[in-house]
Amino acid sequence: MRKITPLQSVKGMNDILPPEAESWARLEAVVITCLQRYGYKPIRLPIVEPTPLFKRAIGEVTDIVEKEMYSFTDSLNGEQLTLRPEGTAGCVRAVIQHGLANQTAQRLYYLGPMFRHERPQKGRYRQFYQIGAEAFGFSGPDIDAELILLTRRIWVELGLAKDIRLQLNSLGQPEERAHHRADLIAYLEGFAARLDADAKRRLQDNPLRILDSKNPEMQEICAGAPKLLEYLGAESLAHFAAVQRIARDAGIEFVINPRLVRGLDYYNLSVFEWVTDKLGAQGTVCAGGRYDDLVEQLGGKPTPACGFALGVERLAALMTIANDEAMPSPSSPDVYLAHQGEVASRFAFGVAEKLRDAGLDVLLHCGGGSFKSQMKKADGAGAAFAVIIGDDEAAGNEAQLKALRDKTSGQRRVRVDALPNFIRPFFQRLNKEG
Ligand code: ATP
Ligand code: MG
Repeated sequence: MRKITPLQSVKGMNDILPPEAESWARLEAVVITCLQRYGYKPIRLPIVEPTPLFKRAIGEVTDIVEKEMYSFTDSLNGEQLTLRPEGTAGCVRAVIQHGLANQTAQRLYYLGPMFRHERPQKGRYRQFYQIGAEAFGFSGPDIDAELILLTRRIWVELGLAKDIRLQLNSLGQPEERAHHRADLIAYLEGFAARLDADAKRRLQDNPLRILDSKNPEMQEICAGAPKLLEYLGAESLAHFAAVQRIARDAGIEFVINPRLVRGLDYYNLSVFEWVTDKLGAQGTVCAGGRYDDLVEQLGGKPTPACGFALGVERLAALMTIANDEAMPSPSSPDVYLAHQGEVASRFAFGVAEKLRDAGLDVLLHCGGGSFKSQMKKADGAGAAFAVIIGDDEAAGNEAQLKALRDKTSGQRRVRVDALPNFIRPFFQRLNKEG
């Protein structure tokens, strides 16, 4: 037969295999618990959206829209569609479409894959996962601050608080940015010969984007650029000061980074990033800010809004680097159920179900083989107990119970109904000790 070459996953789009996927699930559970503790409600959104949504929301002259979107034409009706590169635009679309924020303010969260055609490298992938939160209908600085406290709680719960630092900035309002823009263009024109192609192209359309450049030479030039913060009026400054005050009251340390502008055009006033120096160049694990004009810009009623998204890959990577000793070991079954013989094997299914009814995690041996080989598998799976059933035990509605982590204890024959009573105390003791 002709040898078939196996297909590979698309570059930059990774399989997340069981041990890692298990830590992701735990990480997501911690984040979701924190979000719920602050009253955020889940929303599930499509992965594919109309392309114009992202062009309008994120901005035509941004890295994402210019070169990172996976866009295609629906072959059935010719509609232009895009795999979502971020979650805010779709969330805003849904809020408008369903009138969610018309009566009451909303706190929402979502999670799932995002897609950007970036150069794959450590911490930068083409399919990556975000958990995002968005609050609609709050105009005051309290909600900006609440999002910062919420994210800090996530780091604390994950044992990462010491590794992630907060950077804050304010982008002011559009009129304030217009004044700054003129001075910024004049400043950058002074470096015309050194500007890279992206910066040259953006100089007139969207000069603020140049501040977000990843090119070290552009960063060097931007270090001396006029600071947007110095162009803010009293109202914007008061909003920014209030956010800082609440953060300080909560004991959160931060630095103000006047060059923090974010990669998307929809932000105003507060923007923030949580950054670590343990992940090399891709050190931002969470980013967000206020976007008061976006709902109206996408056709909704004017609605102030604020949100953030955290990058699951980067957070998971940080967990393994920074938090090794605190990482719970991969989950292992409470019971491995070994069985041999025709009657025993039929009986074993019922026993396994009863143990699961009692709240135990049970790995039922499948695929036959000797007891010896089954016990090897039980050890390999890291099970706490083996429950062993031969035809003889099955006939008596009984099983052999063997503790696998305590080599001194032998094997005892117990009635199937009594198995949980023998097994549970072991885990209760573990919980007390742990
Ligand atoms: P960066 O400056 O690193 O490109 P960004 O400003 O494009 O990030 P956002 O759009 O704000 O990022 O996304 C929020 C978070 O999602 C980032 O802080 C990061 O943790 C994560 N993220 C963004 N792009 C990627 C990617 N290509 N691969 C992995 N994670 C990503
Ligand atoms: Mg980016």
